[in-house]
Formats: sequence, structure tokens, C-alpha cells
Amino acid sequence: MIYRIIMVWCLSILTLGCCAQSPSNQSTDTTSTHKTMSEAEWKQRLTPEQYFILREKGTDRPYSGKFVFTKDHGVYSCAGCGTALFTHQMKFDSHCGWPSFDKEIAGGKIKQTRDTSHGMERVEITCANCGGHLGHLFDDGPTATGLRYCVNSTSLTFEPATLNNGVLSMDTAIFAGGCFWCIEAAFESLKGVKSVVSGYSGGQTPHPDYVTVSSGNSGYAEVVQVIFDPSIISFTSLLEVFFTIHDPTTLNQQGADIGSQYRSAIFYTNLSQQQQALQAIKALTDNKVYSKPIVTEVVAFSTFYKAEDMHQAYYNLNKNEPYCRIVIQPKLDKLKKVFADKLKTDK
Ligand SMILES: [Zn+2]
Repeated sequence: MIYRIIMVWCLSILTLGCCAQSPSNQSTDTTSTHKTMSEAEWKQRLTPEQYFILREKGTDRPYSGKFVFTKDHGVYSCAGCGTALFTHQMKFDSHCGWPSFDKEIAGGKIKQTRDTSHGMERVEITCANCGGHLGHLFDDGPTATGLRYCVNSTSLTFEPATLNNGVLSMDTAIFAGGCFWCIEAAFESLKGVKSVVSGYSGGQTPHPDYVTVSSGNSGYAEVVQVIFDPSIISFTSLLEVFFTIHDPTTLNQQGADIGSQYRSAIFYTNLSQQQQALQAIKALTDNKVYSKPIVTEVVAFSTFYKAEDMHQAYYNLNKNEPYCRIVIQPKLDKLKKVFADKLKTDK
């Protein structure tokens, strides 16, 4: 039954291009993105303590922060914009007085900058999304990475994660299904999804930008990085949504968007994901859900590069744009009908 609904939905995909549109006249929403927020807006958004640390590069007094000693299981995010930066598995007791991590969540979420202030040679770390000051990065870490991300507690928020058979429940999935504006909005609406970031995967040249990817010759696909809690939503459920919100039978094309950057692909991050993806494709094929063969690639994940700010949360910031109203909104409406029980209550 569900596959029949999926089929009807996929056949109804409209033929209006998206990312090929000029980005110059996008925003009809007055909401500022994090990078363009004025200091007055930041002051309104943050507590005085957060403003001092994040925007004025302040430092928590040693051993004063609320996360110095915490060992709870969960995810640490930027207090300025909510970007997930670390998990408890990356945290270690450094005895330096500040929360310390030996690695960061992949995806270029943290920016490194040379810092020569206070007569010292250090590497400052900031949130790549909002520019908020986090702390400093040192190469004296005791674990295999040799790194110590020394972070102010005030720069962070913490969200406890439930455990699934004793394993941290957060997991990462990478999907390519045409324009990332569309699939980002759909995954963002699901319960158990912590964050969705639009970006590029599948190519070789480091640090691709939108123009390069748009050429169709870079090898990169537009993708979304989905960080999710498998104890709330399974990878199989994410696959169901994935196959519902795009057409997996059109090679290098979604509607009017044509080029290898719009190909359908699942970049699996572990062998279990690979197995589940292949099983899902087999089930769809065996049930003859589509009249044409599924061309979705199932390939091992290597690298994810976050796309430019203008491509993040596109739907939420541009709901009145024609593309959002004509193409994305109907998909979200259908998502509500098919997966109502899986949606966040505020969506
Ligand atoms: Zn941030």
C-alpha cells in the first residue's frame, strides 16, 4: 500500500527547475540568516554571557562552565545557531578547566583561524555557520587524534540522546535526490532528526562551491547530511521518505533539474546502511513500484562539504518564493499525509 502511495507521489513530481534558478532574488522573508545578523539582533537573541563569549570572543573562567565535568550521553551544539558540533563520545577529561573534545562532527562545521592575541600563537575555533567563538584547538590531545578542542561551556548547548542497546543513538545519513532545497525541507520535518545540512558529496576536488558543482562535471552531487536518532526514527524510515520525495528512476535528473549533480544516490556511512539501502531498492523493484528501473546509486560515503549559507534552510527562509510554493510545499503536504506519525509536532 505504502509503495503505491509512493508511486503516485513520484509520478506527480512537477517539472519546475529549482537550483538552476538565479539566487540573486531569493529572500522574501525578513528573517536574517545567522551570518547576516546584526550585533543588535545577536544581543537580543543571546544571554549577556553568551554574547560576551560567542560574539566578543570571551572566555569562561576555568572550571566554571556547566559542561566541564559532564559525561552524559548526547550532542553538543553551537549556542548561537544550534549547529551540532560534538557528541559525548568525542569528549574527554582534560583537567584543563574547560570541556574538551578530541574530534568534531564531520562536515566542516568548525572553522579554524590563526590567533595571535594575548601574545600567544593559537588556533581559534569558531562555528562555521554563525561565526560564534567556541574556543581554541590544541595539538596536545591524549587520544589517537592528538587534538584537544578546548571549548567554552557558554558557547554550547547540550541535548541528551537516548541510548539504543547501549549505543549512542545519533547516526548520520547522506542522501542525494535532486535539488537539496527540497529534500532538506522534508528530512528537517521528521521526528528524531537532529539536523539537516545541505552540501556536496561524491566528487574528488576538495572544497567545491556551488558554481563548480552546477557545472555537472565536478562529480559532486547535491546532498543533505541528516543527523538522526535511530531510537526515534530508523534508517529504513529515512529511506522510505527518501524514495517518496524524489524520483529514483530518472538518471542524472529530477524534473527540470538536469545534470549529474542532481543524481539519485545514497552515500552509506556503514555497512548496515548499505545493506538496508540495497534491500529497499530490491523491495521497490520486486513490488514493481516504478515502471522504469531504479537508478539510485548506493556508494560508500567519503566526504561531505557544507554548501553556501544561501542554500541552508532554504525552504524555511523562502516559503513565499514560487519554487517553494509550487514544488516544495506540495511535497511537504504529501509527506504530512503519508508519514504523519513521523513528523515533528511543530511542523
Ligand atoms: Zn553557530
